[in-house]
Amino acid sequence: MENCIFCKIAEKKIPSTTVYEDDDLLAFKDINPAAPVHLLVIPKKHFATLQDAAAEPALLGKMLALAPRLAEENGCAVSYDADGAPQRGYKTLINSGPDGGQEVYHLHLHVIGGAHPWRGQR
Ligand code: ADP
Repeated sequence: MENCIFCKIAEKKIPSTTVYEDDDLLAFKDINPAAPVHLLVIPKKHFATLQDAAAEPALLGKMLALAPRLAEENGCAVSYDADGAPQRGYKTLINSGPDGGQEVYHLHLHVIGGAHPWRGQR
């Protein structure tokens, strides 16, 4: 897709800090992190919004399933203390459309981990 910044990142025409790549997906560090860990998972194929990818459940499942792996590899996975209480963790987020706060119109899943201002909020 012409003039799509994330297509350009997927095509390596714009640099990014890649943390994961396969035939379908790319994950890279957010340029303006909201927390110590802030990664974006994108499909290499262009979908403007989640709405536009609704007919691709396997791809969407693959994106979501990558989040725990990235969390493990980047030190923010959920673990349990000796009493079974959950520790650490991360937020997974897809913004859709203007009312959803979407700014880049290429579907992306945020994986946001570590202490951040949203802790304790929805
Ligand atoms: P919001 O900015 O409200 O989170 P989005 O959900 O559309 O809106 O998120 C776009 C994200 O893309 C932002 O977190 C932004 O920092 C990030 N971003 C924009 N350009 C780049 C880039 N070149 N490399 C990495 N991340 C980028």
